Amino acid sequence: GGTIGILGGGQLGRMMAMAAAQLGYHCKIFAPERESVAAQVSDDFFFNKWDDTAALNAFAQQCDVITWEFENVPVDPLSAIEDRLHPHPRALETAQDRLNEKRFVEGLGGKPAAYVTIDSHNDLIAAIDRIGAPGILKTRRDGYDGKGQWRIDSSRDAEGLRLPDTATIYEGFVEFFAEFSVILVRGHDGEIRFWDSAENVHIDGILASSTLPASDRVCAQVEEARKLAASIAQALDYVGVLTCEFFATHEGPIFNEMAPRVHNSGHWTIEGAVTSQFENHIRAICGLPLGDTATTAPRIQMQNLVGKQAKTALDLLSEPDTHLHLYGKKQARDGRKMGHITRIGRD
Ligand code: ATP
Ligand code: MG
Ligand code: MG
Repeated sequence: GGTIGILGGGQLGRMMAMAAAQLGYHCKIFAPERESVAAQVSDDFFFNKWDDTAALNAFAQQCDVITWEFENVPVDPLSAIEDRLHPHPRALETAQDRLNEKRFVEGLGGKPAAYVTIDSHNDLIAAIDRIGAPGILKTRRDGYDGKGQWRIDSSRDAEGLRLPDTATIYEGFVEFFAEFSVILVRGHDGEIRFWDSAENVHIDGILASSTLPASDRVCAQVEEARKLAASIAQALDYVGVLTCEFFATHEGPIFNEMAPRVHNSGHWTIEGAVTSQFENHIRAICGLPLGDTATTAPRIQMQNLVGKQAKTALDLLSEPDTHLHLYGKKQARDGRKMGHITRIGRD
């Protein structure tokens, strides 16, 4: 046993806390929103702003190990609690800024989409000249679920666009035939284990489904993607679960982005793998032996329940081999992830 502190109060923290409870740990949540679905299943809730260092330090004093479920936790206040924090905050620092992230990954031999940093309208027009359209303008920081992104089909589109007053990056549109993610866990001793890669479908920038097995042409790209993901984990001396998203293209895997945490495209591992991403994250940060990541069924599909889709979710319980997860969120706003279902195919 012992106490695990989780930074962030969302569903990833909730599922982490549930896995931690199974292993006999207690969890405390630190988050800046009053409604926390992670706190619903935990012992204690520190409802504080991220920059309240006194509160953060008091929280840390009560925890044996600390981790995060939210990738935009401000990094500076974390140096004071670094001795108990896994993964190391350098992983957050790298992943929180799309420019840092891409440069870092290129340094390890990875291939991101063509990109240019944008500070002005002229930069954007020049970028479209250089790498072409269509493309996507993305804020460098704080984006998730496709928020802070604008698709640009021509320089005329760009002329009509009002730039956000935060740093952005323009990315060439990747003509992928599929998307997939590599999810790995790395232990204190440097051991790495991978889950099978799911094929992911996004709708309006939000993950809609993850399916296993991935198609043969995606599977053919997984090994190269795993090599890159492993070198990212090693370079960061990473401890815990790390996710890398890829576009599968005719030129091989293109790195999209990383998430230094458990990931929505790994929710299928709760019922579909010997050890789930949540349990292995807890095992890794607590210095326990890692669990087997093998897939346990021939076919698996995870579908997100977004916004109103969750309303009829209970009806799904009458279907065989269907597992429903509801996150306990009160308001089903459009685009909000309310839950997910995992279907296990036995043959
Ligand atoms: P997440 O919730 O995964 O962190 P995010 O807001 O960081 O999302 P991205 O992963 O950058 O968003 O983009 C979301 C989706 O938009 C991608 O999974 C992909 O479907 C599409 N997309 C993003 N960038 C590109 C690109 N350069 N070319 C083609 N499609 C793209
Ligand atoms: Mg992202
Ligand atoms: Mg993404």
